[in-house]
Amino acid sequence: MEEPLSPPSDMSPAEFRKHGHAVIDWIADYLEKPDRWPVLPNVRPGEVRDSLPQSPPLRGEQMDTILEDFQRLIVPAITHWNHPAFMAYFANSSTGAGVLGEALTAAINVNAMLWRTSPAATELELLTLDWLRQMLGLPAEFFGTIADTASSNTLYALAAARELHPELRIREQGMAAREDLPRVFIYCSEEAHSSVDKAVMTLGFGQSALRKIRTDDRLRMDANALAETVESDRKSGAAPLAVVATVGTTSTTAIDPVPVIAGICEREKMWLHVDASYGGTAAILPEMRYVLDGCDRADSLVVNPHKWLFTPMDCSVLYTRRPDLLKRAFQHIPDYLVVSDGTDAVNLMDYGVALGRRFRALKLWFVIRHFGVEGLRSLIREHIRIARQLSEWIDADRELERMADVDFSTVIFRHCPPGLADEKLDEHNVRILEAVNGTREVYLSHTRVRGRYSLRIAIGNIHTTEAHVRRAFDLVKKAGRAVS
Ligand code: PLP
Repeated sequence: MEEPLSPPSDMSPAEFRKHGHAVIDWIADYLEKPDRWPVLPNVRPGEVRDSLPQSPPLRGEQMDTILEDFQRLIVPAITHWNHPAFMAYFANSSTGAGVLGEALTAAINVNAMLWRTSPAATELELLTLDWLRQMLGLPAEFFGTIADTASSNTLYALAAARELHPELRIREQGMAAREDLPRVFIYCSEEAHSSVDKAVMTLGFGQSALRKIRTDDRLRMDANALAETVESDRKSGAAPLAVVATVGTTSTTAIDPVPVIAGICEREKMWLHVDASYGGTAAILPEMRYVLDGCDRADSLVVNPHKWLFTPMDCSVLYTRRPDLLKRAFQHIPDYLVVSDGTDAVNLMDYGVALGRRFRALKLWFVIRHFGVEGLRSLIREHIRIARQLSEWIDADRELERMADVDFSTVIFRHCPPGLADEKLDEHNVRILEAVNGTREVYLSHTRVRGRYSLRIAIGNIHTTEAHVRRAFDLVKKAGRAVS
């Protein structure tokens, strides 16, 4: 039997320096050339796990060995979101400033639950989100907080919406087995993100409380259908509570008519939440500000710097003009968290489920300062330009069909060679996607547009150039011919 170890001290500063320099060197090389590996790894499910020890080491290991295993076993089995040919889902990227901010967040390891538990983290979050608010052209009264994801933030917004009606006493009594409660409805378009479904499921509204409003020919919420549904629900004695409008839907980046929806919400006294997780960022460009038209009248809006603002995962921002209601939904202060720092001290734990809060604002502050607003604008502008260029190539090609408008940096299309029957097109494009991703040179994803299987190219990575997108386009064409 081995002697028990005396408690080890942390890594010495000298060791930390040595490994820290090695890690920074590795990151610098990685970010310089994230395409040295294929964008998609060549692994089968379970392979990574099987390649590693199945039980933890009893004695500490050398950092050199750990880092070597990271490079040898982990990196080759990663899907490289930083790769310039990553164009699936909503492509994003890490950036030097963001990585450095993230490293410092880990080093100082503060938990900004209360103002007192890290005044600078709380105040920098408020300040940085006010900067971002100005960049997006949102009203001064919008109060912002950071959470992990848009999914959490949409859930928080709908929890706050419930507090529009304190007389329903949902905070105190919940919604289960409440015969005194009217039916409560939430509205979104049939194209809204699945996070809205998850929010209503989690909050106890239930999926049947979510009314999916039909969309028009451009896949935008049909505001007349919304108004009619709300009116008929009200007539039946239900309580229409909130609408989730989307600026940049996941599938096709459609923009719901927020100004009209805002008018309906004001008239019907419903909460308006805008999901601008992806598309909102475009509003930092003066010429794209229109995408947030009407959002100044929203009660809340979510935008994700970790999607299209070059900030490493995770960083999602919720703005609300009703922080009082967000607080009413979530504030709960046990004795051990009572502080007496006065009303000027904002305690961010009051605005969401999490007590512990990572210092996520630091990396966003670094990113905004490093690039500057003009720098960020030119990156976003270039992505939009490349997307429009791609859209022109598609429109000029008789074998390709564009499936949606290109409002941002995402293009949806399919290959439909003359002569191939309509009912064969879905399968044909499934095979194209498999063939293209099978090259592991680019990574594209798919969606269905009114049921029709379509390919998606999303540009959001700082390293992506027109040449990468042209290569993806050529690979689709080549695969289209090969699988025909
Ligand atoms: N809303 C929209 C429109 C999205 O496209 C996505 C993800 O792509 C989400 C919400 C969910 O984002 P998150 O991963 O931050 O929860």
